[in-house]
Amino acid sequence: MHVIEKARAKINLTLDVLYKRPDGYHEVEMVMQTIDLSDHLTLQHLEEDRIEISCSVPYIPTDERNLAYKAAALIKRTFQIKHGVHIHLDKKIPVAAGLAGGSSDAAAVLRGLNRLWKLHLSLDDLAHLAASIGSDVPFCVYGGTAIARGRGEQIERIHHTPPHVWVVLVKPPIAVSTADVYGALDVNAITDHPNTMAMLESLQANNPVAKISEHLGNVLERVTFRMHPEVERIKKKMYEFGAQGALMSGSGPTVFGIVDRESRAFRIYNAFRGFSREVYLSRFL
Ligand code: ATP
Repeated sequence: MHVIEKARAKINLTLDVLYKRPDGYHEVEMVMQTIDLSDHLTLQHLEEDRIEISCSVPYIPTDERNLAYKAAALIKRTFQIKHGVHIHLDKKIPVAAGLAGGSSDAAAVLRGLNRLWKLHLSLDDLAHLAASIGSDVPFCVYGGTAIARGRGEQIERIHHTPPHVWVVLVKPPIAVSTADVYGALDVNAITDHPNTMAMLESLQANNPVAKISEHLGNVLERVTFRMHPEVERIKKKMYEFGAQGALMSGSGPTVFGIVDRESRAFRIYNAFRGFSREVYLSRFL
């Protein structure tokens, strides 16, 4: 008995930080968008009471540090399930990239085990559980387009037909620590807050990509750019190569460019392939 689940990457079309909370977390407001770059998960039922993880990428931990493991353990604990599961992760989403790869795997495990073990939980139930695994996991349970608030775990889903947008993603070969980026952020010094509502209205009105691009914004860019100037260079190149809009996703280091035409997306993709190893072509879903 097995089920297959896709775990899709997300990008931030906006990322705003409103203030630092007394509990140390930052209060955020972000427009999140699923793209069709996905990991493929196979969940195989085990009669024995254990969780096994295998992964196509050798350096990702397969023990309880893996977010997919955490999700399976949470389901087993919450519903007192005495069977086990083997989870294979075929990774396609770049790791530690700002694209929520691990969070999306965890969300896919929640959805997959719900089916495998016939738990009859709604997506809302799963999203509620998901918040204890990580801030990005509730959004990944739903996918699509949403506003995320709080630590990122409070999700307001946006129901609309996603516009036809091509996305080119470039991940430079550097590691960015999300904690370091938030740690170096001076919330009071933010002057260029993105307009979340304007982005939302633009998406819902099915505006052309050029219009949507006007509202892209991420207050973490400045911090990551200061730490890693090459990320800013990639963003500049994205525009030089013809992107209608470009932004860093999450705390980076991945930069994405958006365009309305496939041919233009391929041109940008090929231009980056000349000197960058991790380049991806995707679409809004
Ligand atoms: P976010 O956008 O939510 O900040 P990210 O895309 O930057 O996430 P991930 O790809 O989720 O980062 O990986 C971050 C770290 O988490 C990696 O260094 C990895 O060791 C660990 N990790 C745990 N589980 C997974 C998983 N299933 N897939 C990828 N990385 C995982």
